[in-house]
Amino acid sequence: MNIEALARKNVRELTPYLSARRLGGKGDVWLNANEYPLAPEFQLTSQNLNRYPECQPAQVIERYAAYAGVNKEQVVVCRGADEAIELLIRAFCEPGKDAILYCPPTYGMYGVSAETFGVERRTVPAKQDWQLDLPAIAANLDNVKLIYACSPNNPTGNLLNPDDLRQLLEMAQGKALVAVDEAYIEFCPQASVAGWLKDYPHLVILRTLSKAFALAGLRCGFALANPDVINLLLKVIAPYPLSAPVADIAAQALSSEGIAVMRQRVSELAANRSWLQQVLPECACVEQVFPSESNYLLVRVTAASNAFKSLWDQGIILRDQNKQPSLANCIRITIGTRSECQRVVDALNCLPTA
Ligand SMILES: *Cc1c(COP(=O)(O)O)cnc(C)c1O
Repeated sequence: MNIEALARKNVRELTPYLSARRLGGKGDVWLNANEYPLAPEFQLTSQNLNRYPECQPAQVIERYAAYAGVNKEQVVVCRGADEAIELLIRAFCEPGKDAILYCPPTYGMYGVSAETFGVERRTVPAKQDWQLDLPAIAANLDNVKLIYACSPNNPTGNLLNPDDLRQLLEMAQGKALVAVDEAYIEFCPQASVAGWLKDYPHLVILRTLSKAFALAGLRCGFALANPDVINLLLKVIAPYPLSAPVADIAAQALSSEGIAVMRQRVSELAANRSWLQQVLPECACVEQVFPSESNYLLVRVTAASNAFKSLWDQGIILRDQNKQPSLANCIRITIGTRSECQRVVDALNCLPTA
């Protein structure tokens, strides 16, 4: 019996997201998934695992709303920002009819999520400076229900121009939702568009505890939006999206002490990032280091240096971006501890350039 033949056509044809974890590798310097390099410590405070958890744990919602400067009714908590990406598609896109739109090079999960649901993926490449190509987006909005805009953008590290985001929201009004992915916003908090929710009923903001909060293994993320959107997302979410231990730890991470620790981490990583930005251009194999508002740096190396593979073989695992549109010979380096950054620089310094 051919089980494969029973599967949905779009699932048979699907290329799953190649997460850093799935790509594997062997080493002691892991700078490929934009994780925080050190493990935070937590103790579980509640012991009632015999009970089902709350669907939307009140303390987590209250604390996140206070942290983000929005109302409780404007928050949904879920299994990582990745689940929020998917909930939006499930709530708003009719398979085989509606489309999502995004602007490569950018985060890979928008496309993969749409594909699993049989929803068309329309791409409008970003301009050379990685800003939105607004006229091209305007010309491609037929049947588009959802636009994903990532700021700071993964993997390029740049913020989207706020005036462009406003124009995007204006052109989408009445037609499509605009989901601004702020997974890295803690590294440039002044750039958040959370304050715009009062102006735009179709704005959604995606957030996560995986990056600056150092909790990628927890799987906890958020969508911020007006109640009309939130209520639709709550219709399609699983009955118990967060396990009780996840809610317990998320609430601790969002206490005022937890937030202070997060801010401390952000400033340490920013110092390491500036140091890397300063020394990387001195490596002979490095052609360009792009500016970054996040916890990673995108670097273009000489083709001859074979840098990604060579560091991989030495146990320094980075993220190859060579296959992304306009990112030939580019590597994304997560900012780690200072000694991990030093290891990267030492290894790059040993590579040939031609
Ligand atoms: C890491 C990342 C996510 C996913 O975050 P999770 O909460 O871990 O699912 C979403 N968007 C972007 C741009 C990311 O880099």
